[in-house]
Amino acid sequence: MAAAEGPVIDEAMTLQPLVLLCWSASEGSCASRHRQCGERRAGDWGGRLASNPFPEATMADLTELPQGGSFLWEEAGSRKIMAPELFTDEQREFARTAREFTEKEIHPRLASIEAKDPGVVPDLLRKAGELGLLMVDVPEEYGGIGASKVTSMLVAEQFATIGSFAVSLGAHTGIGTLPIVYYGTPEQKARYLPDLATGNKLAAYALTEANSGSDALAAQARAVLSPDGSYYRLDGSKQFITNAGFADLFTVFAKIDGERFTAFLVERRTRGVSVGPEEHKMGIRGSSTCTLILDDVRVPAENVLGAIGHGHKIAFNTLNIGRLKLGVATLGGSKDALEFATRYALDRKQFGKPIASFGLIREKLADMALRILVNESLGYRTTGMIDEHLAHAENDEDKARAIEEFSVEASILKIYGSEALDFVADEAVQVLGGYGFIEEYPVARILRDSRIFRIFEGTNEINRLIVPGTLFRRAMKGELPLMDVTERVTADAAAGRVPPVGGSQHEIARGIAERAKWTTLFVTRAAIEKYLGTVAEEQEVLGVIADRIQDCFAIDSLVARSAVIREHGSDTAKDFVSAALVAYIPPVWSRVFHTARHLLMDMLDGEALAANLEAVSHLAHDLPCKVMKARRKIADAVVAAGGYPL
Ligand SMILES: Cc1cc2nc3c(=O)[nH]c(=O)nc-3n(C[C@H](O)[C@H](O)[C@H](O)COP(=O)(O)OP(=O)(O)OC[C@H]3O[C@@H](n4cnc5c(N)ncnc54)[C@H](O)[C@@H]3O)c2cc1C
Repeated sequence: MAAAEGPVIDEAMTLQPLVLLCWSASEGSCASRHRQCGERRAGDWGGRLASNPFPEATMADLTELPQGGSFLWEEAGSRKIMAPELFTDEQREFARTAREFTEKEIHPRLASIEAKDPGVVPDLLRKAGELGLLMVDVPEEYGGIGASKVTSMLVAEQFATIGSFAVSLGAHTGIGTLPIVYYGTPEQKARYLPDLATGNKLAAYALTEANSGSDALAAQARAVLSPDGSYYRLDGSKQFITNAGFADLFTVFAKIDGERFTAFLVERRTRGVSVGPEEHKMGIRGSSTCTLILDDVRVPAENVLGAIGHGHKIAFNTLNIGRLKLGVATLGGSKDALEFATRYALDRKQFGKPIASFGLIREKLADMALRILVNESLGYRTTGMIDEHLAHAENDEDKARAIEEFSVEASILKIYGSEALDFVADEAVQVLGGYGFIEEYPVARILRDSRIFRIFEGTNEINRLIVPGTLFRRAMKGELPLMDVTERVTADAAAGRVPPVGGSQHEIARGIAERAKWTTLFVTRAAIEKYLGTVAEEQEVLGVIADRIQDCFAIDSLVARSAVIREHGSDTAKDFVSAALVAYIPPVWSRVFHTARHLLMDMLDGEALAANLEAVSHLAHDLPCKVMKARRKIADAVVAAGGYPL
């Protein structure tokens, strides 16, 4: 629900030239593996319809832990991913309990939630707590169940059909509770977590201020240590704080002596803490959003969370997990909107037929289902990778790092999920025609509620800057082989050594996924070479690169999901995902390739432009696919299932 981390970009970009001078790839890195593959494959790469480009790649090939951003250089489909087909019985049971709670307790109180009747949302949160639905992320020793992140996201998805409640719950279990889970001292955890796990106490996260939203580190809230060192005096105000109307505990960010940005645990009952009136909002009207006012608030020194001056780490990493939760949570609203639109389309007759029989309506249902499939694949894949890291974590620092590792994926999920939900909700309104515009039908609310997701947890503009910014920054630190990979891809493309596309449908999809990545890496290299240290100022260029990286992650995840479904899915799921590969990948590939060419035209001139266009043209590949026919198959599956078919 909160702001963002602009400075990451600046830090990354100003040091950029250093990368170009100092980069060296580590032995055994993904980059060196890529290079070996390239050498092995070079002989095969002449033909456009070569056989399987990755004959030895199996899903179990990669034994080392996945790395954030590595989808860009690991071979598509070479790593087994987490997906709904692999949920355990226990995870499904959690999801069922959360879904039942949503249907029995939340839906019947919708009008009361939306009217913000006093006490309704906090009472529902407490009730969810009694059922154990708030303790998923809290470690066992502090009264929780310490379940996996996949379980946590699955539960979040079930709650997300009513935006107001989902946001309130997410603010409590996510950005409200997790800072203590990952950064609290044993004493802070023992003091607060058992009550937060049961809903006995409710939490909020207070970062944003009136004059510092996206630029979160420009906060003016101040903290001053008392002469005896026993407490800090906090002054300032925090804007748009979710749950502020009833939260018992706030994670507040303030600068000690106006300089050292630090997190504090502030109890509501402390003298000097108050909240402003509830905001009147476009959507999620039932959630509480108020200003938090801190007027000479005495916070015990032991309530400093994490290290003094390191509040930015807590603030931003908490946002990473918030973005993941948000991305997965958008699935709840999207699936509901698709289900409602499908049922309506089957029921509503015009011109003597159900509108579900019209091609243009079926096309909408197919597109909605495709975005949901991709969002789901991205979300659970990312969460599964975090769980893999968490399984090896030995302490809280490792756990926090496991989440930070996937900050690029978290930003992509946030962008993709929020924009997918907007698209699905908007198309659902269109399927309902005039009735979609009437509040009596749920899709109007879903559309209103969806709008905020593009704004909080870092606006989508800020998240678009974070995607390349983080990759560049980590490459510069030697953590990622990005520069080595872009250099290699650029040289190979210029020489016409490009990944082949051919074989079975799945192999073609993998080949195209590789070409999409190569194309994206190629233009990324061109941008770095063109702008060097000033690339941070070229936001439009970074925006195009971020969108293409997102496309690569989407295609790559769909290819990996289809492998999981082929092994574990039902026949319906296999047919559905097979159609999805054909319906989704060609248009996205076309977008990746053509926007890459246009980006080169925007950035370069003369001989440099001609050489780059020539090199990138080696990656061109027309896919003679029947996209429309595949979309029809998807629409058939949606109509037969009365909604999202998986
Ligand atoms: C309903 C609601 C609930 C919220 N809940 C919480 C909460 O619980 N806790 C909390 O701390 N905050 C919360 N927020 C605040 C929210 O995170 C911020 O509103 C958000 O981060 C954007 O900040 P801003 O509104 O100040 O917009 P601004 O930062 O002023 O941005 C305005 C526009 O400029 C763009 N922009 C800004 N900087 C750049 C840049 N460098 N480059 C390109 N474009 C840029 C933005 O993308 C945006 O389009 C909530 C907000 C709302 C509306």
